[in-house]
Amino acid sequence: MEHRFLVVTTTCIKRRRNIPYIVSVMSCPYCNNQETKVTDKRDSDGITRRRRECLKCGKRFTTYERVEWDLNVIKKDGGRQKFNRDKLKDGVEKAFEKRPITTEKLDAAIVDIEARIFRSSKDKEIKSEKIGQIIMDKIKKMDKVAYIRFASVYKDFQDVSDFKKEIKEVN
Ligand SMILES: [Zn+2]
Repeated sequence: MEHRFLVVTTTCIKRRRNIPYIVSVMSCPYCNNQETKVTDKRDSDGITRRRRECLKCGKRFTTYERVEWDLNVIKKDGGRQKFNRDKLKDGVEKAFEKRPITTEKLDAAIVDIEARIFRSSKDKEIKSEKIGQIIMDKIKKMDKVAYIRFASVYKDFQDVSDFKKEIKEVN
């Protein structure tokens, strides 16, 4: 049985309590058919996970539907920037480059990190340091090499001793 995660990023159409909700037109990632049957549904952390079966080719896949918050990131210099999901995804994927991890697990980790970011935000804002910490906490539990890679970029290690200290902490 085929299994694949698909992160839904379809544009929001509907509004509820001033929060834009994602309303997705779901098409099968294998044959592009738009008629799918939901076989299982689970909600957690503002993310709805649905197991779907394509009514045309019969293949199964999972979709994640998430609330698209209007989130601002407060940078170190105090400036503000819109939260960028792609940037988060790029950073995490880069850390796991050539590491033994499936796309499914990596996608699920990114969804989880994102949920934590939204949960930790206040008044639609979050500090960039907090985001970095959330990502590092998650990666640390998954893969030490990926963690060191991410931390070295994120923490911008000044010299070799910083790096050694971090490696010592992980082991
Ligand atoms: Zn299909």
